Amino acid sequence: MPLMLYNTLTRRKEPFAPIGETVKLYTCGPTVYHYAHIGNLRTYLFEDILVRTLRYDGFSVRHVMNITDVGHLTSDADEGEDKMEKGAAREGKSVWDVARFYTDAFKDDIRRLNIGEPDIWCKATDHIPEQIAQIETLERRGLTYAIGDGVYFDTAKVDDYGKLARLDIEKLKAGARVEVASGKRNPADFALWKLSPTDGAKRQMEWDSPWGTGFPGWHIECSAMSMKYLGEHFDIHCGGIDHIPVHHTNEIAQAEGATGRKPWVNVWMHGEFLVIDKGKMAKSGDNFLTLQALVDKGYAPLVYRYLCLTAHYRQQLGFSWEAMESARSSYESLRNKIVDLKGKSGIGGERSEAKAHEDAFARAIDDDLSTPKALAALWDLLRDDAIAPAQRVALAQRFDEVLGLGIARFGEDEIPAQIAALAREREQARARKDWKRSDALRDEIRERGYLVEDRDGGGYAVRKA
Ligand SMILES: [Zn+2]
Repeated sequence: MPLMLYNTLTRRKEPFAPIGETVKLYTCGPTVYHYAHIGNLRTYLFEDILVRTLRYDGFSVRHVMNITDVGHLTSDADEGEDKMEKGAAREGKSVWDVARFYTDAFKDDIRRLNIGEPDIWCKATDHIPEQIAQIETLERRGLTYAIGDGVYFDTAKVDDYGKLARLDIEKLKAGARVEVASGKRNPADFALWKLSPTDGAKRQMEWDSPWGTGFPGWHIECSAMSMKYLGEHFDIHCGGIDHIPVHHTNEIAQAEGATGRKPWVNVWMHGEFLVIDKGKMAKSGDNFLTLQALVDKGYAPLVYRYLCLTAHYRQQLGFSWEAMESARSSYESLRNKIVDLKGKSGIGGERSEAKAHEDAFARAIDDDLSTPKALAALWDLLRDDAIAPAQRVALAQRFDEVLGLGIARFGEDEIPAQIAALAREREQARARKDWKRSDALRDEIRERGYLVEDRDGGGYAVRKA
């Protein structure tokens, strides 16, 4: 079966066929004025599964992700406060320091979630000339107009504007008639270049341009940078579903406008929202959840990854502490199962049986990245006693090239030898009913950042505190 991917542009699952030898992929990156919310991180997890699946299926991939570090406005409608300047004011830092700090924080989050880095990171502020050049091209093609506060894209000049979101332009016009007072020709028109306010206040991020000192609109960075690194026609472009009606719609208008209406991206893919269960979450006062907030509650980052894999990326995923608890329990069972199998010897079954599991996994993941089915295939394999333990572990590690749950490391090098030795010593103390010694050892282990827990029915487990 070929890899099937759901294309937002056609609203269908389609067999994936790359344009050239290397799959060219662009994913919209973070705006670095604050920490990433776990809902944003869910989108990066889905994109990571996509990249891993492509590579698992034998494609080579060139993955580009941007960092939005230019001050943009808080709303998609080119209005409101500047996010970067707001972040800087909040923290008493320069916008450049804020951008650097949250870029590092973002990279740390994705590393902890075992999300692979893109082949190319590109920062919006490093590509101002490219953005200006694209706006000039659009200007030459007669697709722009200037008003008091900047240069805008004239969406009425493009026949298929809104094709990705299937926007009803007539309805949009009727609904927005009252609000189009800013001088824009059409409600959907958007800023390509905003002039700095003439209030005399010096902005920390502004650049000279043929239209005056100011800064680029949000959408132009993604079309300019993706075309620089991936060319005028490439394979896949991803983001969250909230990008469909405005950001990606406008990226298409700009990119195809700049190339003279040539098709730009073949496949558009979008990740659904993470829905925070407000009723359940309100009590704990968590309205802006970061990965660190989960870690502070005692969850390993990969437990969140496991939770995200239990839902298909095009389905909403409900987040609650109960859901996290359930994901932790499954993740721990997975770890225990792998550690158990690693300690067992046994003779393998038929090759064909292992092959059946491998096929089931490939079918799942090739069905538009169905991670719930892929997890089920993993569990079916692990429980199949007809296959030798070592073979099951080896195959599980192969599946983990896609799942990214850290299976290879289960039971190995996770607990420092010194801690493991203390835990063994404590177990021996317990065996001879020397409770004072065993309690002292438990405290020592805790002081070193680990917890030792006794299991029902005997045995113990050590984990990071
Ligand atoms: Zn983008």
